[in-house]
Amino acid sequence: KEPSEFGSVECQNLSFAYEEEQILSDYSISIPKGSRIGLHGKSGSGKSTLLKLLMRFYDTDSGSIQIDRREIASINTKDLRDMESYVTQETSLFHDSIANNIAVAKPGASRAEIEEAAKKASLHEFIMSLPNGYDTMVGELGDTLSGGEKQRIGVARAFLHDAPLILLDEPTSNLDSLNESIILRSLKDLGRDKTIVIVSHRESTMAAAEKVYEMSGRVS
Ligand code: ATP
Ligand code: MG
Repeated sequence: KEPSEFGSVECQNLSFAYEEEQILSDYSISIPKGSRIGLHGKSGSGKSTLLKLLMRFYDTDSGSIQIDRREIASINTKDLRDMESYVTQETSLFHDSIANNIAVAKPGASRAEIEEAAKKASLHEFIMSLPNGYDTMVGELGDTLSGGEKQRIGVARAFLHDAPLILLDEPTSNLDSLNESIILRSLKDLGRDKTIVIVSHRESTMAAAEKVYEMSGRVS
């Protein structure tokens, strides 16, 4: 495999329906390795669905999805998960320390690695303000944390995971503009090593993309 192809995404003529509703129809998009693109479009146009197809939570009805020039249907799930980081609006947390909640993205990660990821996600200062710092326990459903803090844990996981393809679905929706700008800076700093797809309704977040694609919505 050529290193130049790491993290590239090629979708050709995708069609997908959850049930009878056609969400994607003959949809194609080509995302070169090392690019940072935005996906914009009205609510319900299929942006989250496209990311879920890239994660292979569902199989497409027709068409092809290639990552690193390989059909994702032929990649085993573990390898595919290693290739992709996926951040959603809802970050699921478990009853453990905040460090371990970040470390799920990279089992065995050192404290230094966890802290570095937290810094990139604009979370380090908040964690340091907690009584037990990185060892502070997080409630079962994260109910001791704000929406924005949970979201930044999701982002920190993505930085720690360090996968070649980073898929971000509304990663800044709960964030104030300072936290947003720190995270966007960190994403830009990843440079050409990573392929980044950002879905957002926020103009300020889309501004971090080099190119923005419009999801035209379902064709019926
Ligand atoms: P938003 O900007 O609101 O997040 P989106 O572009 O991400 O919208 P999707 O979440 O991809 O839109 O949804 C596309 C369409 O598919 C919507 O009409 C939605 O109701 C429908 N849909 C999404 N998930 C499912 C599901 N699991 N089962 C059935 N229909 C679904
Ligand atoms: Mg969505």
